Amino acid sequence: MTAGLPSDMPLSTPPRRGLLLVMTGASGVGKGTLRERWLAGQNVFYSTSWTTREARPGEEHGVHYVFVTPDDFETKARGGGFLEHAAFVGNRYGTPIEPIEAALSRGQDVILEIEVEGAMQVKARMGEEAILIFIMPPSLSELRRRLEGRATETPERIEKRLIRAREEIREAHEFRYVVVNDDLDRAVEDLHAIQRAERARQRPETEWTEEDREARVRADTLRSYTLTDAQLDEVATH
Ligand code: ADP
Ligand code: 5GP
Repeated sequence: MTAGLPSDMPLSTPPRRGLLLVMTGASGVGKGTLRERWLAGQNVFYSTSWTTREARPGEEHGVHYVFVTPDDFETKARGGGFLEHAAFVGNRYGTPIEPIEAALSRGQDVILEIEVEGAMQVKARMGEEAILIFIMPPSLSELRRRLEGRATETPERIEKRLIRAREEIREAHEFRYVVVNDDLDRAVEDLHAIQRAERARQRPETEWTEEDREARVRADTLRSYTLTDAQLDEVATH
């Protein structure tokens, strides 16, 4: 028998599975702003959610959200069509599961930008595969300024969102990473470092580049366990 490849051996290894990056945090903390910059110039899959809320001026169906009736949402939820779904301040939001599974299987990284309850569902369902990143405001008063500045909510809804935000900040240890959104450019670099570090983790360390190592060091400083309860209290009460 001659030496060589068996005829049925694949010539290339299958693509690595994509990363499932879940960005979460309070409404108004800057998730959408960060996501836009983080995604720019890279080939990742961004999941468009379904929602029962009304479109805001300038929002497009199928681009910002798929806007649906409560009945259509319920039908999809019952059919198991969502990876996660949650009610948030009177409306329902959900992540369609099929496109996500397809992207991960073809090796494409997926970024979800969802509220905290949904992120916890993804963690429960996907386990270690879900890389949860909590976006933290510099303080609750700065979060209020951003919500008021965005001017998309009534004062009553802003109060509801702030009450929820305070609870979530105190639970930041539930997430793998915490990125503080004070300086926008630094926060985006943090997100890139997390993505690179998590990608590197899929390969043996002997194959890491210098950039991979640097990303790993930076990402380690963003692990949620580095924050004390006192630090979280400080953010939640000021
Ligand atoms: P989310 O998607 O979390 O609800 P947005 O991305 O809509 O939040 O941001 C809320 C408001 O805060 C927007 O007006 C945005 O321009 C502003 N913002 C976001 N990040 C920062 C930052 N690092 N510093 C100051 N303002 C910010
Ligand atoms: P908004 O109404 O401001 O667009 O969104 C309200 C909150 O819902 C934000 O925190 C946003 O990140 C979150 N959200 C958007 N899509 C989804 C989703 O598919 N699932 C969950 N759980 N939250 C979502």
